[in-house]
Amino acid sequence: MSLEITDRQIMTPGPTMVDPRVSQAASNAILGQFDPAFTQIMNENMDFIRKAFQTKNYWSFPIDGASRAGLEAVINSIVSPGDKVLVPRMGRFGDLAVELATRAGGKVITMDTDWGTVFNQEDIIKKINEVKPKVLAIVHGETSTGRLQPIDKIGAAAKTVGAFTIVDAVASFMGVSIPVDDWELDAVIGGAQKSLSAPAGITPITFNERFADEIKLRKRVEAGVATSESDISENYINSNYLDLTQLMDYWSPARLNHHTESTILNYTLHEALSLAVENEGIFERFNRQIKQQQILKEGLKKLGLKIFGDEDHEMPNMVAVEIPEGVAGDKIRAILLNDYGVEIASSFGPMAGRIWRVGLMGYVAQKHYVLRFLSIFASVLAQNGVKVNTALALNWVTEAYHELEN
Ligand SMILES: *Cc1c(COP(=O)(O)O)cnc(C)c1O
Repeated sequence: MSLEITDRQIMTPGPTMVDPRVSQAASNAILGQFDPAFTQIMNENMDFIRKAFQTKNYWSFPIDGASRAGLEAVINSIVSPGDKVLVPRMGRFGDLAVELATRAGGKVITMDTDWGTVFNQEDIIKKINEVKPKVLAIVHGETSTGRLQPIDKIGAAAKTVGAFTIVDAVASFMGVSIPVDDWELDAVIGGAQKSLSAPAGITPITFNERFADEIKLRKRVEAGVATSESDISENYINSNYLDLTQLMDYWSPARLNHHTESTILNYTLHEALSLAVENEGIFERFNRQIKQQQILKEGLKKLGLKIFGDEDHEMPNMVAVEIPEGVAGDKIRAILLNDYGVEIASSFGPMAGRIWRVGLMGYVAQKHYVLRFLSIFASVLAQNGVKVNTALALNWVTEAYHELEN
């Protein structure tokens, strides 16, 4: 039986809807992984990734795998058994950094803040100076709570104690400006299936020479492709597929064989990056998303709902909204999905059952999607006994769009 995919309006903080041009890119023919026609696309992807991260880092390339593969590649390649890793944690993805650093053998030191809040950078810097970790791993856009952690000062501070700063920017990538070089971040992981609006399965990352020099000390080239000059470190990286040093050989003119690169996912990445970086422009994309987010947020407030968390530090590409007392959040989500084809997200851990998360990432951050969502959401809430000011909200939003367009 052939595939039949249901039409959906996806408004979650990942995965996200993709531009039809990105889907079309996936239908092109396969190329060999060393075909110059393909290595040209690889090089262009590297260049797009540099522009997206506003960096001069040569090492800017995608990892084959979902974003957590990018996180795991970076963490596994730098963290040796016994290395101190500092993780400021403000939600579920801080826990993921802890998990990955622990599995890599790191000695993890955490600092916590309530879910829904962010850290004061000075507190992180104080902790860096106290702990003197080898690695600081921090989440930039914490999608479980919808918070955006300021990180412009911590990279330089970490460097003064010799630490390397790793940033999970999976959900903030293409959602907000991340000037990697200006902020002196050593390694940053972006995401395909969030604000870039590309299919999951490939993950753009970037890291600097300082980081590269450090991980090269752990290089172990596998026997099948090694020469007499190849490095074989004893403190080698405990993964083959996600070994950044071997991936560097593949993503450099050496083109040393490693895994079979996904040509199809490189096509989708290329199209999505070219739409963001060249057609639209990254700052225009940030601007489009935050404008849609502001309108949706205000619309939800006018309906009578409460926005969750510290509004001074919210991600500009999603809205976290409180589930009103006595309302079964998952039941509302199920109706939205099954009857209207609209998907929003719940959350995790202490946030489960407390908030709905609505994504405005990439392609879906458009007026007609926002208006459709708000109208449908208001009607589903009303049908389920929630008092909402539908007319007030829709009138306000319509007026806001009118102003935006004139
Ligand atoms: C979505 C997300 C991830 C994980 O991405 P996967 O592609 O599902 O592995 C990691 N960190 C943050 C902040 C995210 O929002």
